[in-house]
Amino acid sequence: MLERRQTRRVQVGSVAVGGGAPISVQSMTTTKTADVDGTLQQIYALAGAGCDIVRCTCNEPEAAEGLARIVPRSPIPVVADIHFQFKLALAALEAGVHALRLNPGNIRKPDQIKAVAGAARDRNIPIRIGVNGGSLDPDIERRFGGATPEALVASAVRELELFGEVGFDDVKISVKASNVPVMIDAYRLLADTVDHPLHLGVTEAGPPPAGLVKSVAGIATLLAEGIGDTIRFSLTADPVEEARAGRQLLEAFGLRERKNVDLIACPSCGRAEVDVIKVAGDAQAAFADRQIPLQIAVMGCVVNGPGEARDADLGIAAGRGKGHLFVRGKIVRVVPEAEMVDALVAEAEAIMAEGFDARLAKADADAERIAAQTREELLQIQGLDVNHDSERIERVRSATDG
Ligand code: SF4
Repeated sequence: MLERRQTRRVQVGSVAVGGGAPISVQSMTTTKTADVDGTLQQIYALAGAGCDIVRCTCNEPEAAEGLARIVPRSPIPVVADIHFQFKLALAALEAGVHALRLNPGNIRKPDQIKAVAGAARDRNIPIRIGVNGGSLDPDIERRFGGATPEALVASAVRELELFGEVGFDDVKISVKASNVPVMIDAYRLLADTVDHPLHLGVTEAGPPPAGLVKSVAGIATLLAEGIGDTIRFSLTADPVEEARAGRQLLEAFGLRERKNVDLIACPSCGRAEVDVIKVAGDAQAAFADRQIPLQIAVMGCVVNGPGEARDADLGIAAGRGKGHLFVRGKIVRVVPEAEMVDALVAEAEAIMAEGFDARLAKADADAERIAAQTREELLQIQGLDVNHDSERIERVRSATDG
């Protein structure tokens, strides 16, 4: 990973963006903003999934009124998303939002842009210049022959210049495109052009898994180059999935501390004593947004599982109708197979409450012995080479002989 690019800092409510602040996760509500309770419910779910900043559309006067009620009750800063109508930006500022997002492609009159920037300046409220390849200013698109990286950056720079005319520079910028290489090149060019914090995203990425793959391809490439101060996955899915994915990406990069469970699972093989995909899926749902920052393993067999996952904080391995629960590689309890997921959740909560040493001290004295016995029985039933590795190796050797 390259060092993070130095940027100026923008303050979105309680969350700092840029200037060395932790990279933040953003998402957007899908409710009508006028539906205050429905929107707040979604915001709370997003915050629970790791979202740091939420954006709500402000597309009608009722939405601006909704924002006035939502902002004081929201657990995270609220950004108003503005398209076409500059007056709604002014209304959102009156509603008390923590930031605005303006699309320079559809609010194009300089006087209107400067009116919004002046009002934001007077209130110390930052604006994101949110350029989007799909809604670029037609003049710029014509000049550059399409929504090229240069065109996206030119749109952002022109908006910055207009803001500058009223002495406003409290800005972060995004140059999103749905085409991943275009998006990557646009952000690289932008990073070379300005020192404002950058909001990364692949726009209209679509439903998962393809939408996730595209988002990760674009966002992760830039993060690995040190570019990016805040991120959003634009998925055609429940926004909670966006927040979770953003958070997980940052945790995987070591850019944010782990907040939720890191669930790992073996891929299953001929030794599996349980439907690993189902148990892992059930465990994922059971842990969901519980704030348990542990790595937890679901392993298909007790023959190899506890060893293969000995670096996990906690795990469970199946064997002969039972689940063998292990903490840092040591078997601590044996539970009926049907209770594997419940046992994982209970142990994870107990570790969080009591600590590892206390839980290891409370291990069932018999658990290691039962696991060893089950391992022996399985080896006898299945044999040493249930995956036919040796046969394959023989074939590999004969293929490479001579
Ligand atoms: Fe899973 Fe056991 Fe196979 Fe390893 S050996 S992949 S733990 S079933």
